[in-house]
Amino acid sequence: MIEAKLSQDELDILQYVKEFATKEVKPLAKEIDRNKEVPEKLIQRMRDLGLFQSYIPREYGGAGLSFSFLVRVIEELSKACPSTALVLDGALTLFADPLIMFGSEDLKKRYLKRIADGEIGGLAITETGAGSDAAAIKTRAERKGDHYLLNGSKIFISNGRLSKFFVVSAVTDPSKGHRGISTFVVDADTPGFRISRDIEKLGIRGSSTVELEFNDAKVPLNNIIGEENSGFKVVMETLDSGRIAIAAQALGIAEGALDEAVDYVKQRKQFGASISSFQGIQFMLADMATSIDAAKLLTYRAAEAWDRHENAIKISSEAKMYASDVAMKVTTDCLQLFGGYGYTTEFDAERHMRDAKITQIYEGTNQIQRVIIAKELLR
Ligand SMILES: Cc1cc2nc3c(=O)[nH]c(=O)nc-3n(C[C@H](O)[C@H](O)[C@H](O)COP(=O)(O)OP(=O)(O)OC[C@H]3O[C@@H](n4cnc5c(N)ncnc54)[C@H](O)[C@@H]3O)c2cc1C
Repeated sequence: MIEAKLSQDELDILQYVKEFATKEVKPLAKEIDRNKEVPEKLIQRMRDLGLFQSYIPREYGGAGLSFSFLVRVIEELSKACPSTALVLDGALTLFADPLIMFGSEDLKKRYLKRIADGEIGGLAITETGAGSDAAAIKTRAERKGDHYLLNGSKIFISNGRLSKFFVVSAVTDPSKGHRGISTFVVDADTPGFRISRDIEKLGIRGSSTVELEFNDAKVPLNNIIGEENSGFKVVMETLDSGRIAIAAQALGIAEGALDEAVDYVKQRKQFGASISSFQGIQFMLADMATSIDAAKLLTYRAAEAWDRHENAIKISSEAKMYASDVAMKVTTDCLQLFGGYGYTTEFDAERHMRDAKITQIYEGTNQIQRVIIAKELLR
């Protein structure tokens, strides 16, 4: 069996996470998709299990557990419900990680403790005119005395309705292109900041995805992350770990779908036999299991590289691209194994396929991952 390299403590906690995911999250997954909301009681259970503390360093109120552990948690939660996994992933990899890597001592003290206590955050980079080209953002941050004034908008922001604060990228020097971008922590109750709309989606429907608006939103000078005009680096390095977490999400979705398909083919009978006795079906299962194992090896290896503070640009893109392509193929094939029943909303196969699709798109589409991998290769 392929396992991530975890400490005995982490392995012990993971057992509780697995139990929580199977017994408490999975039974609610259909309802979460239908109601387009992760229930507060599940988020509270994640707090109670210490999951928000896990990746936060000890000096800021966390448990200081490894990134490899977080990746395994995201995988286990995603087997049950990827929208639930994204609540934790957004808070830890998208909001906390840029602060851990680049934040001032003051920012770390003010915000990381709150994440460890279970408050939720998000990351706001994407704009209507700036998706794959994250340097093309137009949201402006102008320095005025003891604060910055932010003006502009962001689209497709995960954890939108749940977040108490966001890491936001904005242009501080328009003459410098990507070297004129800075990142800030913006509190959700900042005057001039608002959620302008909710966005309906194909999959991960339980995750809140919103559009944000900034109209003279006043952000204190000391809420800047790192130096002024160094924000593009903050964003890019945040996405390096973020992509490994998305690989874990994709992996979990694929594993969850395959488990259900294996159970189904064993009990479904046609031509007087279980359909699992047909070699055509067995070959599909064998291919799916193999591709999942390969995605797992790549994802865990990427997480280990991150834990060792190695350059993980190429491997994080490889893991995200490969695992998400596997998730899409596996969930499509699993639906096929359910025949007509798979196409109905009575079974979960169609939801797995809808949920898998986003992993090929967000935190850089898989075309962009290929651009990154090739660039690193040819460097
Ligand atoms: C549900 C959801 C949640 C999200 N959460 C967040 C979030 O929390 N925070 C955040 O900031 N953003 C978030 N995003 C945004 C997401 O990261 C972007 O949608 C994604 O990066 C793609 O940008 P785009 O949609 O503008 O597509 P575009 O950049 O317009 O791309 C359109 C197509 O062109 C292709 N393409 C573009 N450039 C190239 C190129 N150079 N070579 C080859 N092909 C190319 C793309 O691969 C794609 O197929 C989220 C999106 C969704 C849908």
